[in-house]
Amino acid sequence: MRKYVVMGPQGSGKGTQAKLLREGTEIVHISVGDILRWNIQSHTKLGAAIARTVAEGHLVSDDVIESVVKTRLDQHDWNFGFVIDGFPRNERQALFFLESYDITAVLEIDVPDHVVTERILARRLCSECGLDYNLIHSRPAVPDRCDVCGGVLKPREDDEPDAIARRLQEYRERNQPILELFRKKGLVLRFDGELPIDTLQAEIRSQLGLPGRVPAG
Ligand code: AMP
Repeated sequence: MRKYVVMGPQGSGKGTQAKLLREGTEIVHISVGDILRWNIQSHTKLGAAIARTVAEGHLVSDDVIESVVKTRLDQHDWNFGFVIDGFPRNERQALFFLESYDITAVLEIDVPDHVVTERILARRLCSECGLDYNLIHSRPAVPDRCDVCGGVLKPREDDEPDAIARRLQEYRERNQPILELFRKKGLVLRFDGELPIDTLQAEIRSQLGLPGRVPAG
């Protein structure tokens, strides 16, 4: 059973790499942020309790997160394994995870701050339908207009240099102790997040001993 954790700052491409790992492997991708957003959009009891915290960009309480993770993993739809993304976010969550599940490896996607900043500053969101764009690798056909609905593309409000710098610093401060903990257990594999998406995915698979992706078509 493969049990992976993927870690990296916002804009490191960790979600993209985690999703690609599913192809041809039956590894299940678990994004804690997606589960929380689903609860908020579906107006569940949990969603109502956490909506404000998530909207303000604060961390949801450890008790709630641990229960969300446990409930998700208790579904046992991951016969081959899983890769979890967005968790752990602090030492307590890391210790809970280490005690409850024997982790196979932690994938650290390493990208210098200036590269992550460039990537985040290139993000655009359609003001009408909410579709995501990135001026580096998924440009719209007509500048500043959504390909699907023609809406105006705008940066997200919190995607401005000062806020990005603050989030990156917060990420580093919070994650260094977690990575240290995992490193002491010999679990951390470090990857160069500046590699092109496909090259990085191939590198990850090679180091994890997973089969390569079969090209589409
Ligand atoms: P993400 O999509 O991973 O950036 O998560 C979106 C939001 O969900 C975060 O800003 C937090 O409010 C909350 N969240 C996600 N994962 C966690 C976690 N492991 N611990 C606490 N809060 C979390």
